[in-house]
Amino acid sequence: MSHDWKRYTQSPRIAYFTMEIGLTQEIPSYSGGLGVLAGDTIKSGADLKLPLVAVTLCHRQGYFRQEIDVEGRQQEHPRAWAPEKLTEHLPAKTLVNIEGRDVKVQAWLYRVKSPTGGEVPVLFLDTDIPGNSDEDRRITDQLYGGDLTLRLKQEIVLGIGGARLLSALGFHIFKYHMNEGHASLLTLELLQRSRRPVEDVWDIQASLDTHSVINQCVFTTHTPVEAGHDRFPYDMALRVMGEVLPLAVLKSLAGETELNTTVLAMNLSKYVNGVAKKHGEVSKAMFPGFEIHAITNGVHPFTWTSPYFVSLFDEYLPGWANEQEMLVRVDNIPDADVWDAHCGAKAYLFQYIKEVTSVELDPDILTIGFARRFATYKRGDMIFTDIERLLELGQGKLQLVFAGKAHPKDDPGKEVIYRVNQHIKHLRGKIEAVYLPNYNMDVAYRLIPGVDIWLNNPLRPLEASGTSGMKAAFNGVPNFSVLDGWWIEGHIEGITGWAIGPPPVGTEADTKSAEKDPEDLYDKLGSVIMPLYYDDRAGWIKVMKNAIGKNAYYFNTHSMMRRYATEAYLG
Ligand SMILES: *Cc1c(COP(=O)(O)O)cnc(C)c1O
Repeated sequence: MSHDWKRYTQSPRIAYFTMEIGLTQEIPSYSGGLGVLAGDTIKSGADLKLPLVAVTLCHRQGYFRQEIDVEGRQQEHPRAWAPEKLTEHLPAKTLVNIEGRDVKVQAWLYRVKSPTGGEVPVLFLDTDIPGNSDEDRRITDQLYGGDLTLRLKQEIVLGIGGARLLSALGFHIFKYHMNEGHASLLTLELLQRSRRPVEDVWDIQASLDTHSVINQCVFTTHTPVEAGHDRFPYDMALRVMGEVLPLAVLKSLAGETELNTTVLAMNLSKYVNGVAKKHGEVSKAMFPGFEIHAITNGVHPFTWTSPYFVSLFDEYLPGWANEQEMLVRVDNIPDADVWDAHCGAKAYLFQYIKEVTSVELDPDILTIGFARRFATYKRGDMIFTDIERLLELGQGKLQLVFAGKAHPKDDPGKEVIYRVNQHIKHLRGKIEAVYLPNYNMDVAYRLIPGVDIWLNNPLRPLEASGTSGMKAAFNGVPNFSVLDGWWIEGHIEGITGWAIGPPPVGTEADTKSAEKDPEDLYDKLGSVIMPLYYDDRAGWIKVMKNAIGKNAYYFNTHSMMRRYATEAYLG
């Protein structure tokens, strides 16, 4: 084995901790937007030559492969991967204490390499080691599987095991960036390390240098949805973790009633942020008393731009992939070239749809795309609220493409998938619609660039940021979305795309105005979007170009990482 990985340890780095990461479809250790964002973050970090190292779990069982059965229901199949084949084994191990046992943790190295010469190592932690009990060998197998106890064990391996392994390998870390609360147990390890001598050796609280830990930590919270914030009962935490800190001290940091991983991370981070301006506000209301900043998410430009637009941008705006500010000059590209590139991406998607579903879509018909995790707040079946109205509007004039997985335990989410598939069946011959199975990075890469508009209709303000709309923008696909997350910042009505419903008011789930969203969707489709698409091609291409020049130029992980660097890591 080559030892050249040691050069990663020669100068201080920022450690980016994340439970899931989507780097390539070969390594299916992500479930949705959070993981893809982590992957895009690391890729931009490599492009920008930032001194990062990422830490995650290997999830050998992967996140499931989805099949849609004849009834239109989601079926889940395993999608295992072997770190032995795709990564390099690192020659260090560490131990974490779980339920009183010493559990060995090892790491696999994957290198993210940029054409700029930048490189970021990614460590996949793994407990599948001889000497660990069978049960312990399975801890790092499944992403978001199992029960709460398993989740806590995984978070011990990620946070505590990750921090220890970085030290064992010789990394010098000057900032720890926790991507979501899943990683926040690392603060407990840093607290242990911070202990200094005090007069009264029994006064552990006084011996802990919380200030030094705070100075090392950055925390990004990603969701206003309650279930997204892990909380563990203290009796479970003590049983599984042991008494890492006196209970009173732990409670003062992680919450009185339960160990709340978000509260723990917020209490021990100098810089805390939400992932869009609105989400920053919503997080402040959820966690009063904390200073919470906002850095809006992005997407990795090269990863999410289809080959059709890559060659167009390379020709007219060379350097765009590392300097997206170039995209403001998109108007230098002739309209016909933009349209041709889009038609190429559309034909490519339709070919793929034909292969997978046997449905032949018509390239001349306005095609709406909707794909994301099927969590209920995202309202995946909203466009079917009034079928009569949809038919009146869209017969022969609209096509729909859907995709998305629901978490295996999310029965309501699975029901939405089923309903969407029922509607698709009933509309056959009137409005052609398809459900592409197994939404993942590869499917997203084909799907998003190939539709004409990108639909998103979450229950506001629950979409923290959303990123698929940014992928659309890089491919000249305008957004048609509820004003939530990043779209509040990217939307200029009729210029960059279109809004559904009113802007969000306040920080609570707004079910009242949400009821009127379907009507607004149909109205705007019929009176603004369809006429523009069918009767004013030049006007349509103008909006496509604005999606590129006014959205993609800014909503990307390069801009985002420059902000993390100056405001969070070096601030
Ligand atoms: C980008 C992406 C997401 C996130 O989509 P949102 O619209 O932000 O929810 C989820 N899954 C995959 C596979 C993606 O590529």
